[in-house]
Amino acid sequence: MKKKIIAVALTAVVALGSLVGCGSASNSSSGSTGETLVVGTNAAFPPFEYVGDDGKPDGFDVALIKAIGEKAGFEVQIQDMEFDSLVSSIGNKIDVAIAGMTVTEERKKTVDFSDSYYEAVQDVIVAKGSNIATADDLKGLKIGVQLGTTGEFIADEIEGAEVAAYNKAVDAVNDLNNGRVDCVIVDKNPAEVFGAQFPDQVDVLPGTNFDFEPENYAIALPKGNTELAEKINAALKALKEDGTYDSLVKKYIEE
Ligand code: GLN
Repeated sequence: MKKKIIAVALTAVVALGSLVGCGSASNSSSGSTGETLVVGTNAAFPPFEYVGDDGKPDGFDVALIKAIGEKAGFEVQIQDMEFDSLVSSIGNKIDVAIAGMTVTEERKKTVDFSDSYYEAVQDVIVAKGSNIATADDLKGLKIGVQLGTTGEFIADEIEGAEVAAYNKAVDAVNDLNNGRVDCVIVDKNPAEVFGAQFPDQVDVLPGTNFDFEPENYAIALPKGNTELAEKINAALKALKEDGTYDSLVKKYIEE
């Protein structure tokens, strides 16, 4: 118990330290200009973010924001947290968030977004052999989603649907395999990863079959901080021009 309290206290000190360090000069030795950028993510969304073999967050988004940090002169510090807490943590616990986050009008009331870096869509994961095929078939179903995501927002609009929201999308897929939900609505790339994890149990159906709209991923930024937005957008543009972006797509998404 005592150990736990010490750990909690230490975490608080570290969190406070990073808060003070936000966007201000720190005496770090590894950063080129010494500025720390605390980046929130939710490392349960492969291939964009997941916990790597070394226990640290890895994935396309993690690599992308590190490359952005290198270009823009930030020392990137990743903070893993629940997806649903990311937007409200910007400007307090974290500086920015990268988490396969879709640009939405609702989120834009609280945060700004960088230029978009990826186009996605929601897919539907069903049990193998299921006869779910079109938007009409989703009506009245029990639908698993990840809490606070665009998948949940779409499911909430489906007539008669009962929506079960999980902190991690993989838990929704596990409940599909247990027969507790009829399908799962989740972003295309993670859906494909989960499909490959359970090839005998599930099929992944393209969201276009259900008339789902394309979505754009972008980095969520503190509202009104145009200086930070310009730095991040300039770095993103440079990475697209010099081939880094494409090589990260190849490494993390297409492999
Ligand atoms: N793209 C979805 C959203 O922004 C899901 C993101 C996620 O679960 N990491 O809501």
